[in-house]
Amino acid sequence: MLLELKQLFQIEGTRLEINTDFDWSDKDLGGICPFTSPVKVRGEIFNRTGLVTLTMTVDFVYSAPCDRCGTQTELGYSMKFDHLLVSALEGEDEGEYLVLDGYSLDLDELAFSDVLLNLPAKHLCNENCKGLCPQCGVNLNVSQCSCKTDDVDPRLAVLKKLLEED
Ligand SMILES: [Zn+2]
Ligand SMILES: [Zn+2]
Repeated sequence: MLLELKQLFQIEGTRLEINTDFDWSDKDLGGICPFTSPVKVRGEIFNRTGLVTLTMTVDFVYSAPCDRCGTQTELGYSMKFDHLLVSALEGEDEGEYLVLDGYSLDLDELAFSDVLLNLPAKHLCNENCKGLCPQCGVNLNVSQCSCKTDDVDPRLAVLKKLLEED
């Protein structure tokens, strides 16, 4: 979705309302397409005395297997982003600004990169998810297995080994 912002840049006080849905269902993140429902983007671009700001809230559901236990998990997010828009850099530090290509802005692309940068590193069904047993693969949130775990105190382990050798 390409927004043409030439007029907005030229006339102070101009405001452009953003109220759109994006279809990201074919966006593939490592073999998974997690955006199964429409992504809602609400906000505005505003030229306040020559300073053009974009504020938007992106609402979406992220649907993917839990990184620890593999259970299909849907998490809803509402992320808010702000950008200062400039049509060209004039000695400013690029880090603070979003430099447009001419006067056009690809809102879809911007929202998508904002979201990707702000997704949590891990997608978990529950922050206390116990994951799968590394030995038998049982889902430890659902049941317990009888595998021996190695979380014995290392000092006790040495003692145990000595006793076993007797
Ligand atoms: Zn999990
Ligand atoms: Zn096990």
